[in-house]
Amino acid sequence: MLNVPPQAFPAPSSQQRVAAGGRAKVPLKPGRSLMDWIRLTKSGKDLTGLKGRLIEVTGDELAKHNKKEDCWICIRGFVYNVTPYMEYHPGGEDELMKAAGTDGTDLFDQVHRWVNYESMLKECLVGRMAVKPIAAPKGMLPEKKVLGASAKDLTPSCDWFQTDSSITIVIYTKQKVMNAELVTVDCQGKQLRGEIIVDDHSYVVEVDLDHAVQEDLAVNIAEKVGKVEIILKKKDNIHWKMLGQPLESHNTFIKRMDRGLFYRKCKLVSKTEVTHDTKLFCLMLPKSTHLHVRTGQHVYLKQIIAGTEVVKPYTPVLPFLPLDFKEPSHRDGAHIYLMIKIYSCGLFTQALDHLQIGDYISVSSPEGNFKKSQVQTSEDLFLLAAGTGFTPMVKLLDFALTEVSCLRTVKLIFFNKTEDDILWRNQLEQLALKEERFEVQFILSQPTKDWVGKQGKISSSLLSEVVKRSRRDSKVLICICGPTPFTEQGVQYLKDLGYSPEEIHTFTA
Ligand code: FAD
Ligand code: NAP
Repeated sequence: MLNVPPQAFPAPSSQQRVAAGGRAKVPLKPGRSLMDWIRLTKSGKDLTGLKGRLIEVTGDELAKHNKKEDCWICIRGFVYNVTPYMEYHPGGEDELMKAAGTDGTDLFDQVHRWVNYESMLKECLVGRMAVKPIAAPKGMLPEKKVLGASAKDLTPSCDWFQTDSSITIVIYTKQKVMNAELVTVDCQGKQLRGEIIVDDHSYVVEVDLDHAVQEDLAVNIAEKVGKVEIILKKKDNIHWKMLGQPLESHNTFIKRMDRGLFYRKCKLVSKTEVTHDTKLFCLMLPKSTHLHVRTGQHVYLKQIIAGTEVVKPYTPVLPFLPLDFKEPSHRDGAHIYLMIKIYSCGLFTQALDHLQIGDYISVSSPEGNFKKSQVQTSEDLFLLAAGTGFTPMVKLLDFALTEVSCLRTVKLIFFNKTEDDILWRNQLEQLALKEERFEVQFILSQPTKDWVGKQGKISSSLLSEVVKRSRRDSKVLICICGPTPFTEQGVQYLKDLGYSPEEIHTFTA
């Protein structure tokens, strides 16, 4: 179903969001962007007040530096003088002050554990904590610290065997339901790393292999018995005496949140225009990587910009919207497609836009807490998307229309500024014509006078009009994604309209 009449397609010059008008969670003063911070760190200015000396910091000393004008914070055992960073912190000064004079590791990890503070704050380093910090380094927690006695029995185990030409590493996950999407494997040179997700835990096998292997690897899953096999091809047909040397994270089973991000370099193979400011980037995974990005998950991209490591999250999409929902589509496993809006003053997206075909970029393993079962038990699915907040909806639409037969209606309510900003409009309109259960409604906040569709911004009255159960008691799921204030307001309005928290899912990092 399509509820927007066909339009002439005027091409008003669309606006791009610019820093001055942008709505960051806490607006930063002009001259306080990440790029300005990077410039300041490169200026040679003494940012710690210690003239380049590194000191050992006691707990008492750390606690003394708890004011805005003199603020030290410990992250993963290192102490930083964040006083000069205050005005540059995107979360605002008050957020940073919550950790003033203390070990802020947990707080930082809760908010943005993917941000590399070690790189960002390296010029603010005061020294190391004299005593062991309370928070342990990422990915290094010993098993018994994380797991209770009963959970210990659930720890996967691994073994290996060989033939003349192959090495097989077998992981017994002790899970009845296991699938390829929960397994990520990378072999970089002789370093093999396999990660298996078991609910909110992660099990890692990490070995420096005894001998060289060929580039391509295979992953076999015996789903019902929870057995995962990683099959490597030997480079030389010799007998291996051992698998190799265990590395730092080998045989660890810890909370996913405590595991550091793992990156592999992917090749940019194409870059195509989606709208005037948004492009579809196709990245090719290395042959020696097995990785699936599930519905609702995002990855982190990492680039070194002016000598500083910068990391941003992006949500993979499909190469196009499938119109024939007969079987799960476009999951070749070798490519990742990202639909990215290039901001004219964006630090990361400008650097991305300058990548040439054939260049490499670091891509993390996937993250995200969306559970497909939320959709599988719903009858009406509403997707509220603003701008590139459309990206998680792409795989979600594919999944919902392909695999969830109990869904009666699937409705995308897509907020944009102008017609020119609507992502994949043609494809969405075609899908609505083809698939009876699917409806799309475009809502523009800054339309031209020719626009005959709906106009406005997210509001309680608008949501009460467009989000309606198909039956009085039908089970609904409402997914929201867009700028943070859009998402937060949306949730509040929906709650005011009587929807329960279980009926609402927000996509966040
Ligand atoms: P910055 O240098 O950080 O900002 C420059 C200016 O751009 C700002 O002043 C502001 O005016 C504007 N701007 C920057 N970020 C935002 C923002 N988030 N909202 C509104 N205005 C902004 N983006 C995509 O294009 N595609 C995706 O698939 C995608 N997936 C994401 C998934 C998650 C979980 C999250 C949290 C974000 C996602 N983003 C996505 C946003 C992305 O991570 C970056 O924030 C964005 O690319 C801007 O980065 P930048 O460094 O170029 O901009
Ligand atoms: P945009 O073009 O600036 O805005 C899209 C629509 O949302 C416009 O109608 C706009 O109206 C409205 N809007 C913007 N800010 C709003 C606010 N504060 N309150 C209410 N409505 C608002 O959007 P964009 O530049 O593409 O940004 C998309 C956002 O989605 C980014 O913030 C990105 O980080 C986020 N995102 C998140 C994920 C995730 O998984 N969490 C994935 C992808 C994208 P106006 O005319 O009022 O501006």
